[in-house]
Amino acid sequence: MNTEDIKNLLDFRVSDVGAAKLPEPFMGLGYVISLCIKLADPIVESITDKPTHSYFHHYRTVNRALDDAAQLVGLYLQKNGYNFFPVAASQSVNVNGNPFAGVYSHKQAAVYCGLGFVGINNLFIHKDFGPRVRLVTVFTDCPITDRQAHILTKNDYTNCKNCGKCISACPANAITADGFDPKACSDYMKKEFQLIGRGSVCGICMKVCEENIKK
Ligand code: SF4
Ligand code: SF4
Repeated sequence: MNTEDIKNLLDFRVSDVGAAKLPEPFMGLGYVISLCIKLADPIVESITDKPTHSYFHHYRTVNRALDDAAQLVGLYLQKNGYNFFPVAASQSVNVNGNPFAGVYSHKQAAVYCGLGFVGINNLFIHKDFGPRVRLVTVFTDCPITDRQAHILTKNDYTNCKNCGKCISACPANAITADGFDPKACSDYMKKEFQLIGRGSVCGICMKVCEENIKK
């Protein structure tokens, strides 16, 4: 099995697929599949100094589509005699006292699979589509891989155009050249955007990023 099989299975349900052998198994599973959907540019362009209701709806719709795609891939793997463990597209759980972490980092998985890198804005930046993407991750014991895992290094976090636009655009001062403050970001969204997306989305740093590539 390879990533072409997964792409054929999913047809147009996702924008890109990657797979890799993990450096360390997760839940006893040694391989990872990363699925990516590119967001609609006109929706992202509608974001100004705040998110929009359309963006919040799109965000949730794409997350749902990713969860459905991950489930379809999982059932396909299962039918072929393999195990699978899908990670929710958008779910924060408290890991080691970090309330903003997920069960597994989708960014880490996507970098493993060679789909892109991470920008100063802490967003995953797809090598072809830029930062306007969402991700989901499926772990499996099926040896589906076109490559070995690429270990996320500090360089992967600064591997963007380094223009500083996200730093100056962030109303929460959550992005600096030294790193990203998830609490400042979350607190600002909860306080200022409660009536748009119940305080769970913003998108300004994604909209302004110089790595935006329209395809
Ligand atoms: S999502 Fe908004 S508040 Fe959070 S880092 Fe980006 S611009 Fe700042
Ligand atoms: S806005 Fe500029 S500095 Fe920020 S992540 Fe994008 S390219 Fe990097």
